[in-house]
Amino acid sequence: PRVAVVMGTRPEIIKLAPVVAALGPAASPLATGQHWDADLTDVFFAGVGMPRPVQPLRGVGGRDRAGQVAAMLTGLTDWFRTDRPDAVVVQGDTNSANAGAQAAHHLGIPVVHVEAGLRSFDRAMPEEVNRLVIGAVADVHCAATRGNAEHLLRAGTPASAVHVTGNTIVEATRRALPAPAVRAAVQAAHGVVAGQYVLATVHRPENTDDPERLRALLQALDLLGLPVLLPLHPRTRAALTAAGAVLPPAVRGTGPVDHATFLALAAGARLLVSDSGGVQEEVTVLGKPLVVVRNSTERPEAVDAGFAELTGPEGVLPAARRLLRPGWPEELSRRPSPFGDGRAAERVAALTLAAAGHDGAGVLT
Ligand code: UDP
Repeated sequence: PRVAVVMGTRPEIIKLAPVVAALGPAASPLATGQHWDADLTDVFFAGVGMPRPVQPLRGVGGRDRAGQVAAMLTGLTDWFRTDRPDAVVVQGDTNSANAGAQAAHHLGIPVVHVEAGLRSFDRAMPEEVNRLVIGAVADVHCAATRGNAEHLLRAGTPASAVHVTGNTIVEATRRALPAPAVRAAVQAAHGVVAGQYVLATVHRPENTDDPERLRALLQALDLLGLPVLLPLHPRTRAALTAAGAVLPPAVRGTGPVDHATFLALAAGARLLVSDSGGVQEEVTVLGKPLVVVRNSTERPEAVDAGFAELTGPEGVLPAARRLLRPGWPEELSRRPSPFGDGRAAERVAALTLAAAGHDGAGVLT
């Protein structure tokens, strides 16, 4: 069997790498080019040891949302029509996953959705609409948690198509986290000392597109009382330039780093501050406290399990104080992740091969 594994952005590469590995020779990785910055793609393909993906599309990055989905839907339809994979795997909630799922569905190719059933219930988020579209066309829904599965069942998805697999980020994190000696070297190279710095990331439009909010967030980081390392997403760098904003004294910007470097820095941080989805999952594997700077989250599990607090820029400092109260970081370092047991990719691969119709399990009709 041949399984096209569609990847458009950094988090998709990170979270699908374990699935590609588990599929073995059946996997046919495909890059849509949604992220076209080498810092966000090439280093990740190399870093996870994935075979270089095919990239059948050109020029889909940098368009508006409708143009991007349209270009990828057309391009992926043409590709799948001639390539005829036995199944298509998409992950998460990007425009790439949306286009990949629709293209495969329209051609009658089974669609497997990894990280299915997340809901923010905020339709103003493009990601939420992508999730709803993918949920409508997918044949196999691999939910990370029970709660995610419940969303799908409540929306009328047949129970036989919904599987609680765990999130592949658990194994992705465990595999990519460098050994302690390497972590220390990475921290030293970035000028930080274990336990004495904050690691932050900011890239969601709700934080970058409003210059006032971006400034308020940087100010909040400056008040934490520890040096803050901020690997800058290209969108954030562009937003800073456009707003004429400079980083405050305590905040040191760097370019985006590869996943192993990011995890080495996260593992040594006293606290993380981020608007990322994936970081909300990773902190539960690393056992670290996290302030989530967002209006809403489709991943309540990290908050419910005590690892994270959700707040706007104005609440960063009080949330940080609560998360760093005596004894709590130690408690978090011992808690299990709510996102699974580290075997999600195996389960996803088995379900995918069944959907591709090659082991006779006949998950699909
Ligand atoms: N990440 C990374 N290098 C960085 C910043 C983040 O490798 O400089 C990783 C991080 O560990 C996580 C993923 O990128 O696994 C999150 O991606 P992002 O925040 O871009 O997207 P989201 O998860 O919000 O969709």
